[in-house]
Amino acid sequence: MTDDLPADLPAPDAPQTDAPADASVEARMDAAAEALRRVYGYHAFRPAQEPVLRHLFAGFDALAVMPTGGGKSVLYQIPALVLEGTVIVVSPLIALMQDQVEALKQLGVRAALLNSTLTAREQREVEKRFESGALDLLYVAPERLLTDGFMDRLARAHVALFAIDEAHCISQWGHDFRPEYRMLGEVRRRLAHVPCLAVTATADAPTQRDVLAQLGMDDDALFVTGFDRPNIRYRVDVSNEPKRQLLTFLDGHRGEAGIVYCLSRASVEKAAAMLCAEGVDALPYHAGLPQNVREANQTRFLREEGVVMCATIAFGMGIDKPNVRFVVHMDVPKSVEAYYQETGRAGRDGEPSEAYLLYSMASVVQQRRMMDDGGDAAHAWVGRHKLDAIVGFCETARCRRAVLLGYFGQNPPEYCGNCDTCITPLETWDATVAAQKLMSAVHRTGQRFGGAHVVSVVRGESTEKVTKYGHDRLPTFGVGADLEATEWRSVLRQLVAAGYLAIEADNYGRLVLTERATPVLRGQETVELRRDPTPAPKARRSRASAAPPIETTTEGERRFQLLRTLRLELARDQAVPPYVIFSDKTLREMAERAPTTEAGLREISGVGEAKMQRYGEAFLTALLNAG
Ligand code: ADP
Ligand code: ZN
Repeated sequence: MTDDLPADLPAPDAPQTDAPADASVEARMDAAAEALRRVYGYHAFRPAQEPVLRHLFAGFDALAVMPTGGGKSVLYQIPALVLEGTVIVVSPLIALMQDQVEALKQLGVRAALLNSTLTAREQREVEKRFESGALDLLYVAPERLLTDGFMDRLARAHVALFAIDEAHCISQWGHDFRPEYRMLGEVRRRLAHVPCLAVTATADAPTQRDVLAQLGMDDDALFVTGFDRPNIRYRVDVSNEPKRQLLTFLDGHRGEAGIVYCLSRASVEKAAAMLCAEGVDALPYHAGLPQNVREANQTRFLREEGVVMCATIAFGMGIDKPNVRFVVHMDVPKSVEAYYQETGRAGRDGEPSEAYLLYSMASVVQQRRMMDDGGDAAHAWVGRHKLDAIVGFCETARCRRAVLLGYFGQNPPEYCGNCDTCITPLETWDATVAAQKLMSAVHRTGQRFGGAHVVSVVRGESTEKVTKYGHDRLPTFGVGADLEATEWRSVLRQLVAAGYLAIEADNYGRLVLTERATPVLRGQETVELRRDPTPAPKARRSRASAAPPIETTTEGERRFQLLRTLRLELARDQAVPPYVIFSDKTLREMAERAPTTEAGLREISGVGEAKMQRYGEAFLTALLNAG
């Protein structure tokens, strides 16, 4: 609990294995709502948060599957303020722990963390506070939790709730299985007397079932919230000139923070160097960089406004920065889950954000190879299916959001109005004959060649390889001279996406026919494909000549910029990220409503007691001066 909780809270010492009476649950909910107002400055729980808290306060377990930004951390932070004892939070990422602990301290909550970044002395200090009951929340790295010493401490201390963040990591069906998470089932059994809360933003139905099973939870522990992230706009383009495509995209996001994901360390370095040369404040991040460089880059990304991070997927999990305005994928990600999680790092604050994916067959082949290189056959099989699904997403002519949400078992409308296919509906065409030509070329060349060669054969190009294998004598040679190579590549990708062709990852990603191809080759089935938008004409693009940013001249916007400057100064003084002081959303509301009194400032969502005391005067003064 915070130091200044009122003394008249409901008795929190009811046995938690037996469900407390309804009255006690209601009293706890009231105390929770009060804490939400006082500590966080929020007016009410979100509709998805309330039933989970009620369930936990009744002494039951819960697995909450909620989109990023949905407010999962509140689900374990609020019980820490309402229930007697300490909430233990297991989290796989150090950055996330540090961020959350920092934010909680700003709120006046007694939180600490235990992980490898602490010195032995600091560690003992935290353990002492934990054992003496002086902590509301303790964040623990999984490997730390499993040591005997810590298990003994847990048994002795008063634990209020056992919370597991990023809970999909416990399942091999999830996209980010972590062996050290496997043991959490055992920890949970040892802590059977307290409720357990598992939270994740990305788990498909099999993963959800597996997490429940591994943690020994009932089916009624499952709470799945709508996955939709309506503020994220999805856009997928075929990667033809990635550098120019990226720069054009970034022109629309100047001065904003974002992430550019690349598949390899080398491409991360290249992208960061290229962007810097173009005047973008970009930094690299991948596992091959020395730890101090990684940390310094991450810190700059978190603490400053407008840094673009070029990174491998090593970056981002647990990055809580709420005002990431865009996420770019320069290559196809390995699964829809991974894509959804990575793009989900944009716009946690609910403000408009963009997800932009550049898609190419070459990166699909590369992903396939990485998949087959590591791990066992069963794992590779799961991986292949997951990759097929993301390829299908890239090639869809449907609403992107509908495809994404459908993948997670939801039933969304077929039009969202905020994705590329909804904004610019695609033409489709009857590609049956083209498909037959291409597939018979695959067949005639013995299903031993990759896409580039097969396209050369249909187009009748006498390349060295074509001549060497005598493929210019095949009946399919040159039957497709009517389409451009780019059009053939589009047909090919879509046939792979639709499952008529498959890519074998042995040697160079050769194409093979699937059983679905037969009816098309026999003329028993037609094929409808999307017509890819033609790339915009090559314009010479330069930062200087690009359109100036839209001038926002409203009073609110002017005040917002002033408040943002004040926030950055206050954050620098304390060496914390700006958003732990106030979120962009809170700042915007402040700028719009321009309160002039303490009471007025308290009305703003996100201004709680501790923040009021610390920053109230500074922000009120700034607002008064801003006029
Ligand atoms: P998640 O962990 O699910 O990604 P967070 O817990 O970080 O999401 O919450 C996202 C943002 O929403 C945070 O700024 C958080 O403080 C805010 N938030 C959470 N619950 C509420 C609420 N009931 N009312 C207003 N804001 C909330
Ligand atoms: Zn849409």
